[in-house]
Amino acid sequence: MKVKPKDVSTIVILSKNKQGTKTIQVRTRHIAHLKYYAMCLVGVIALLVGSIFLLRNSIQKREQEKQLLLAQIVNLKGQIPVELQKQAEENSAQSYIQAIESKLKKINDYLRKRGLKGFSTKSVGGDANAANDKLTDKEIYMAYNDYLTHVVNSVAFTPMGYPRISSMTSSFGFRSDPFNSAHAEFHPGIDFKGNRGDIAHCTANGRVVSAGWAGGYGNCVRVAHSNGFETLYGHLSRITVHVGQKLSVGDKVGEVGSTGRSTGTHLHYEVRKDGKPVNPVKFLTLNN
Ligand SMILES: [Zn+2]
Repeated sequence: MKVKPKDVSTIVILSKNKQGTKTIQVRTRHIAHLKYYAMCLVGVIALLVGSIFLLRNSIQKREQEKQLLLAQIVNLKGQIPVELQKQAEENSAQSYIQAIESKLKKINDYLRKRGLKGFSTKSVGGDANAANDKLTDKEIYMAYNDYLTHVVNSVAFTPMGYPRISSMTSSFGFRSDPFNSAHAEFHPGIDFKGNRGDIAHCTANGRVVSAGWAGGYGNCVRVAHSNGFETLYGHLSRITVHVGQKLSVGDKVGEVGSTGRSTGTHLHYEVRKDGKPVNPVKFLTLNN
């Protein structure tokens, strides 16, 4: 496109030493619009600077948020294992409580089977575990302690274990009469194998109620325990306790012999509940 001469202005550039000039021809309307161009340029620069400023600000803000998130992550990482550990501890404590409860139940069953009152584990959980939630740990442990005290007292005065550790030669119940095999007789206790002089031990805490000759039992010791229990040790060669003496479980009551109605040296052992002989086998171990 051809430019008309009147539309063109000439700009002459003079060098400092005035040697040689340079001329630039520009459209006249461009010169008239020069200030607008300058304003546009300033506007564009302002826009760019503003944008850079905003971008920088937003980058800084993001960096701050990132740091904050990182800090939170670190914090959460620290918390998670603690929470898990706590839960694991609670789970294992719960399993110990259950194990304790099952053992208590076993002892309780033992006591009940032997005609004792036993105890209730209801308030410490037992069968109704929902009640556990309402009690604090301390209350639960205190309740267990109370029950265990009760158990210890019950067990200490309940015949348990062997008056002497040896095999049984005759059990509780009807058997043929050792003196007349054609005749049946009721054997109210169990016989333990033994040699003359072997120690016969008391099987529970109690008090001696008889110590001396007792017909067919020969030299015999009877010990009264609480809850209506009594134990009897017969055919002794020697008695080492006296009536009224307090005995602890395991104490010596006398020595094995063959006095009274006996066919050989052995220890005759009876457990009586409210005066009636019961099967002593039930009182030998916790697992019966
Ligand atoms: Zn016997």
